[in-house]
Amino acid sequence: MSLGVTGEGQAKIPSVPECLFCRIVSGGVPASQVLESPRTLSFRDISPQAPTHVLVIPKDHYPDLAALVAAGGSLLTELVNQVDEVAKAEGISGSGYRVVFNTGADAGQAVPHVHAHVLGGRGLGWPPG
Ligand code: AMP
Ligand code: ZN
Repeated sequence: MSLGVTGEGQAKIPSVPECLFCRIVSGGVPASQVLESPRTLSFRDISPQAPTHVLVIPKDHYPDLAALVAAGGSLLTELVNQVDEVAKAEGISGSGYRVVFNTGADAGQAVPHVHAHVLGGRGLGWPPG
């Protein structure tokens, strides 16, 4: 497979047909969209663990946070900016919120397409389970 190149010179990551979140990006699986930016999508978690529980993903497929960091460029910054925008849009930037990147087996990462959980709207316990 040939890989295209983005404006930043990064390899263009193709979508993975069997990846649930790639299918949400392509519209093949419905989701409750919250926000969108050129390279990110935010949608409500199907099993919310707090009054606000939104997932923020890059539209391109990266398996986990380490892969996104390794790719370099500004996509990680765009993703974190979207987290901030989601918190503002959901009205939780003042009350506080938690951002979680479950990464790998010990963290229980279930979907291998990097995603930030944005949780808020109630007091959140610490440490996590
Ligand atoms: P993680 O355990 O960090 O990989 O989290 C995956 C998250 O994806 C879980 O919180 C699931 O509830 C959520 N999830 C699974 N399927 C969907 C879906 N179709 N739409 C929205 N969220 C989903
Ligand atoms: Zn994917």
